[in-house]
Amino acid sequence: MNHSDTIAAVATAQAAGGIGVVRISGAEAPAIAQRIFVPVSGADLTRSKGYRAYFGRVTDAGEDVDEAVCLIFRAPHSYTGEDVAEISCHGGLYITRRVLQSALAAGARPAEAGEFTKRAFLNGKLDLSAAEAVMGIVSAQGEQAAKAALNALDGALARKIHAVADDVIAATAALAAWVDYPDEDVEQVHPEKLRETFCRSRDALRALLSRFETGQAVTEGVDTVIVGRPNVGKSTLMNLLAGTEKSIVTHIPGTTRDVVEQTVRLHDLVLHLSDTAGLRETDNPVERIGVERARQKMERAVLTLCVFDGSEPLTAEDMRLLRQCADRLCVAVLNKADRGDAVSADEIRQFIPNVVRMSAKNADGCDELCAVVTKLLGTDAFDPSAAMLANERQKDCCVRAERFLTEAVDAIDSGMTLDAVNVCADSCIEALLELTGERASDAVVREVFSRFCVGK
Ligand code: GDP
Repeated sequence: MNHSDTIAAVATAQAAGGIGVVRISGAEAPAIAQRIFVPVSGADLTRSKGYRAYFGRVTDAGEDVDEAVCLIFRAPHSYTGEDVAEISCHGGLYITRRVLQSALAAGARPAEAGEFTKRAFLNGKLDLSAAEAVMGIVSAQGEQAAKAALNALDGALARKIHAVADDVIAATAALAAWVDYPDEDVEQVHPEKLRETFCRSRDALRALLSRFETGQAVTEGVDTVIVGRPNVGKSTLMNLLAGTEKSIVTHIPGTTRDVVEQTVRLHDLVLHLSDTAGLRETDNPVERIGVERARQKMERAVLTLCVFDGSEPLTAEDMRLLRQCADRLCVAVLNKADRGDAVSADEIRQFIPNVVRMSAKNADGCDELCAVVTKLLGTDAFDPSAAMLANERQKDCCVRAERFLTEAVDAIDSGMTLDAVNVCADSCIEALLELTGERASDAVVREVFSRFCVGK
């Protein structure tokens, strides 16, 4: 890909809206804007110093397309670090596409997915973890997730990783000199001091890793399955959480024949909910398929909401389910509390420690369910201002760096040569710089940006 050419794309959502933005970036951006945009002031955009808004008309082959405002930014002080023209026209699929087509006809090339942010990365405007944060901000579904992503864009993770890398580099500088020039009179290497630094750095990485799952829960949402025997109120609970009628609620057991899925918000937490057919033995072949899918969903889910009819004594089927859920991240919901309680919470707690009484039908107990779920997932204590690993790529780099430090410590403890220690420390630094993007291969960079949408 040629980074000196000028690219263009629609930067706003492809839907009807008040305003749509077409972004053009590259050395030719002001000239291309000048070809398709006529400012009422008669200004020449190619001579603009930038950071000015020009009101005018977009034209294509002499024909007016729309009234618009054109913003000019000058390199390096723009999102991409290049000259940028942004044309804000009326929103809507037709007009934005038409303006884009004019820009392409005037010499721009269509931008690839994530190419604006990729150029920002290649021009040193942000590191790889910050570029990934841009994607987090765009897709954030809750306040905590948006805050965490904004914090990453500000470089919180990169600063943390650099601090660890700098520590390891400083500690091993003398070591490397000693390995490379054993005969020279280099600084004395103290294995116990090295060990101290490695342990401190390793602990910092472990702390980051320990927050990964909670961070994922906040930013990506949690795969959650609702299970329970037929007629206990699973569909009613799902509909209550979703605020809509998606699951079919009837008094006939076995009505939910297949898995119904919905993404719901529980205060600031996003749950990807699956309401399943009851896990019961059945001769009905259609229902059997539903039960099998429910079993698979349950295996994959992170969180299980296990629903019981609290107004009736537990059945053998309930007991079977309780045993199945015993070693899972699970909340037991004793539903139909409006009809009285025939089940003791203590009985349930022997298998599932977290029990909530509620009435899904009367929308009673939702707040308590929310409090128990956020506590169980640790998202109640989530600190969006702390550095956070945002995805599997970053986690993988961190895992490798941590493992190399552990190996370095082991090498020191077992009295291995300092060459071996040096190799481990080097590999750790490699992994850390891959995380921030300073040593990431082209393939990794391509992969990161391919997950973006066009226009970002
Ligand atoms: P599912 O088979 O587990 O999905 O159960 P449904 O959600 O279809 O509910 C079965 C029946 O129980 C329906 O008639 C619901 O109206 C009723 N129901 C669900 N939740 C409650 C509740 O909290 N209180 C009472 N009294 N009835 C409920």
